[in-house]
Amino acid sequence: MPLIKENISLQPYNTFGIDIKARYFTEVNSEQDLLEIINDPQLKQLPKLILGGGSNMLFTKDYNGLVIKNNLRGISIVAEDDAFATVKAASGETWHHFVLYCIEKGLGGVENLSLIPGTVGAAPIQNIGAYGVEIRNVFENLEAVHISTGEKILLTLNECQFGYRESIFKKDYKDKYFIVSVTFKLSKKHTLNTSYGAIQKTLEEMQITEPDIVAVSKAVCHIRSSKLPDPAKLGNAGSFFKNPEIPVQQYQQLKTIYPEMPGYITTSESVKVPAGWLIEQCGWRGKRVGNTGSHKDQSLVLVNYGGANGEEVKNLAYEIQRSVKEKFGIEINPEVNIF
Ligand code: FAD
Ligand code: NAP
Repeated sequence: MPLIKENISLQPYNTFGIDIKARYFTEVNSEQDLLEIINDPQLKQLPKLILGGGSNMLFTKDYNGLVIKNNLRGISIVAEDDAFATVKAASGETWHHFVLYCIEKGLGGVENLSLIPGTVGAAPIQNIGAYGVEIRNVFENLEAVHISTGEKILLTLNECQFGYRESIFKKDYKDKYFIVSVTFKLSKKHTLNTSYGAIQKTLEEMQITEPDIVAVSKAVCHIRSSKLPDPAKLGNAGSFFKNPEIPVQQYQQLKTIYPEMPGYITTSESVKVPAGWLIEQCGWRGKRVGNTGSHKDQSLVLVNYGGANGEEVKNLAYEIQRSVKEKFGIEINPEVNIF
């Protein structure tokens, strides 16, 4: 049975660096550990919170239940042919470690997702995405254990109901299942996606004329390291809000008032507007409020300058939300999980 600790500060376990306490805290190194916790009569009644790398969480108060830190490890190729390899990864593996494993084996599909913080098991929760790729593009299935009954299920691509930063784990299955492994289908014959953002320009600066998955991964790492605040130095959880999707008609109306408003067509009916641009237009970029604020280079990223509490960050997020709604009539919603 894994050790159950009491009154543990979660500050080292969340990238925002918020100092709150978990009433009970444990770490699981195997599925057996997890099942022992689930089946323990004394722990059964406690609310449970699954913790990966803590890079998409904002804690606003002490957690009066059991926090389960995921340390499940292991990555292996479980099937392959001339064109594809099926790779299964335990959910506690670091996401970037998994990306590097694939690249090292010559397997393409996740290079654009290099350097995203967190674990493999959290990746399906919000269908992580960056630079034109989402995990649903390479996803095969996942295994998850019900945190009350211990029942194990296998979910396929369609069953996960992936959407833009969405999945069934943010809806019907919210906080109900512990994802124990994720299986991906990766390609041996690579189709690179370099058209998004600054990838192409960065490859040119790196003097790479014939890029491969290694070069694309390096370019993405380079862009991310130069643009995003490092949570080890400045607490943050990446983009605080999702980019809103609005009806084409509303976008066209707003364009007559704000001709420079960026937008990306997602379907014939809707347009995705970068939330960072909206926030910047409301004057929040680089603005500090107490110990928190919107980052000077990435207005979408809220930061902890040191000593901020979760309520402070949540209040700032609310003020930002309100001002965007007032100026543009657009609702922006948090991507970060608030507890
Ligand atoms: P945690 O923060 O620990 O958990 C997030 C949620 O998932 C919680 O609700 C938790 O209970 C649940 N959860 C975690 N593990 C499991 C599991 N095994 N089973 C069931 N539920 C689980 N995200 C992107 O999509 N794209 C990006 O480009 C990106 N860039 C980022 C950059 C920075 C600097 C930072 C700090 C964050 C960024 N993020 C990005 C957000 C974050 O990295 C991802 O959401 C990541 O998948 C979170 O992983 P985690 O292990 O830290 O999850
Ligand atoms: P960026 O390139 O400055 O672009 C701003 C926004 O516009 C992005 O959020 C992106 O939406 C959208 N966009 C840009 N080019 C697009 C295109 N060709 N087609 C569709 N949408 C486009 O963004 P950035 O802030 O530097 O981030 C770069 C990438 O890393 C983005 O994909 C972003 O999602 C990802 N990222 C995510 C987080 C996070 O915590 N979630 C943090 C940092 C970076 P999308 O977000 O939908 O891609």
